[in-house]
Amino acid sequence: MKKIVLPLCPSKRRHSQRPHSQKRMARKALFSYPGPEYPKTPIRNSRTIRVGTLPLGGAAPIVVQTMTNTDTRDREATLAQIKSCALLGAELIRVAVPDRKAAEALKEIIGQSPVPIIADIHFNSQLAILALEAGAQGVRINPGNIGGEEKLKKVAEAVKAFGATLRVGVNMGSLEKEIVESYGHGPEAMVASAVKDIAILEKLGLKNLKVSLKASSVLDTINAARLFASISDIPQHLGVTEAGGLIEGIAKSSVAFSFLLAQGIGDTIRVSLTASPEAEVDAAYAILRSLGLRHRGIEFISCPTCGRSEIDLIALLADIKERLKDISKPLKVAVMGCVVNGPGEAADADIGVAGGRNKGALFVKGKKVADYPYEKLAQELEQRVRKMVS
Ligand code: SF4
Repeated sequence: MKKIVLPLCPSKRRHSQRPHSQKRMARKALFSYPGPEYPKTPIRNSRTIRVGTLPLGGAAPIVVQTMTNTDTRDREATLAQIKSCALLGAELIRVAVPDRKAAEALKEIIGQSPVPIIADIHFNSQLAILALEAGAQGVRINPGNIGGEEKLKKVAEAVKAFGATLRVGVNMGSLEKEIVESYGHGPEAMVASAVKDIAILEKLGLKNLKVSLKASSVLDTINAARLFASISDIPQHLGVTEAGGLIEGIAKSSVAFSFLLAQGIGDTIRVSLTASPEAEVDAAYAILRSLGLRHRGIEFISCPTCGRSEIDLIALLADIKERLKDISKPLKVAVMGCVVNGPGEAADADIGVAGGRNKGALFVKGKKVADYPYEKLAQELEQRVRKMVS
């Protein structure tokens, strides 16, 4: 195949092209630099597309998405999961379409879904067309397994005809043979795979495109996204694939996303976890909130507990989180182990509780307003919060 000439991968550019004098200067500058400054509103240079009615890319808020893990043929279970994730703030939900029956189930699912649905297609381009006919607002295909250029073109024509979006979802683990032969395994190979397919799609006049360049390595994910952003304004879906369980997955995604989002790269995110899709949505907002990029829902401030705590703070936090999971208005809620440091440490919270001996104090803006028995704390806090947001 004709090799696509790509700019150097950012990591290689850094190592190979930076003169030693510059490296010394950068090291020297560290001593006078007052501290890293996180850009609060990083400028994204991506184009804006629409998934159904949802704007994505450009100046639109970073879209939170997840993927169902139910059997799509089970309409009821899939819809229940979609609604539960949407309640937590998922704005875009992907469902697997492994066969014709799953594609047939889509019509009912999409008809009742509160958010746009993306059909996830592997191997069978015909399923993408069936999903679009069923009303899918977008499809995700993997160039490595869709079956070649002709099949890709057929999917693209259908996407255009239905006014849907197409995500070119490149995975490091399933790159085309000829791409691997030319570029090996790495960020350049992922970008080359995307560029090759995008050239075909754009020739057909398809503009409603997104790209994802996923690897299980955080550094490969970062470098592929940076490299792609340096040559294209197509919106990017960020994700670290096969990221792991809750802790590993959130850690890997947080590192990759914060690095990229700080540079204005990334238009929609999925925190892939070996956990529930609801946990993915929760984690996505936690990451975006911590970067000051989205403010939906409750930000919890809770202490790690220590020998001073005389209540079961871990159980209390879990109870409060469950009670308040449907709140979408931004609010800071503190859940602290004791009154010695609790209210002070969480002074900028809107409302909070601090544990005592089998009881707890409820405080508003750092000031104590009432005491309640431990068993009543979560309920009292919930009532106050609901009044505050009503
Ligand atoms: S708030 Fe109290 S219990 Fe929690 S870590 Fe601080 S001192 Fe310990």
